[in-house]
Amino acid sequence: MVIRMRHTKGHTGNRRSHHATKEPRLAKCEKCGELHISHTMCANCGTYNGRQVVDVMAKLVKKAEKIKKAKEMKTGVEEKKEKTVKKVKTVKKEKKEVKEKKEAKPKKAKAK
Ligand SMILES: [Zn+2]
Repeated sequence: MVIRMRHTKGHTGNRRSHHATKEPRLAKCEKCGELHISHTMCANCGTYNGRQVVDVMAKLVKKAEKIKKAKEMKTGVEEKKEKTVKKVKTVKKEKKEVKEKKEAKPKKAKAK
């Protein structure tokens, strides 16, 4: 930092005296009485200026269904993994059985 750029603590404080954040302007919802940011839809009931803008219940239901589906998808993937593992195991077993049969057959032939 160049000396020319240096400010005293007082200077910095004076500049920052206007940086405080103001409280958001909250208004009471006409329908449900919940506080909401003015000139925006009420997040609790989905109304703006006295009319229904968003169906909040439908949105909540949709969200819940989405979460449910995601959970089902996860369990579905796990089931698929288990199935493939089982398939691989059965295939290996079959191969072993075939090998044993092949080994057993020549012995019988020799006995005859
Ligand atoms: Zn409301």
